Amino acid sequence: MQVIEYDKLDIVKYPAISLRKKTKAVKKDEVDLAILIPKMFEIMYKYEGVGLAATQIGLNYRIFVMNVEQDKNKKGEKVFINPQILEREGFQDGNEGCLSIPGIYVSIKRALKITAKALDENFQEFEVEAEGLAARAIQHEMDHLNNILIIDRITPAQKIKISLELKKMEDEYFEKIGASEGYKKTVLKHGR
Ligand SMILES: [Zn+2]
Repeated sequence: MQVIEYDKLDIVKYPAISLRKKTKAVKKDEVDLAILIPKMFEIMYKYEGVGLAATQIGLNYRIFVMNVEQDKNKKGEKVFINPQILEREGFQDGNEGCLSIPGIYVSIKRALKITAKALDENFQEFEVEAEGLAARAIQHEMDHLNNILIIDRITPAQKIKISLELKKMEDEYFEKIGASEGYKKTVLKHGR
């Protein structure tokens, strides 16, 4: 089992490289899901998100959690391990934010309805049909598992509008970690 310091897990923000680190399928008993899953929900609720992928807390596993219910009760909690989107139908436009890029909201076109399959917290396979916000959240979190961020899905014109804010996040991050010029280039080659 991989040693993870669960108490130290927290949101990883753009442009941190772990958001761009290739993910691997979760194997049974490789991570302690009984600890990891509640921790993921805890962090998601703390930052008032509706979904959270493992890459957003620095873990490159194919797992995300979500709860799109308004009252955030437990029955709205869904866990997706090694998920796949099987079908997409129609389109929806809407503003989307990301806990890893706080303060940025951009309009992104997504499929209106999707069918997905995944393993749940007990490693049982399930299939789900989702629409509207739930479908949007699943597509957003799937993107995280494939290292795609909302800023990769916007038009050049949209990107110009938020470029100053992104630059500020990059500068703050690079200063915090004392990044070399070479490392900055490696991080930024992933997009923007
Ligand atoms: Zn996100």
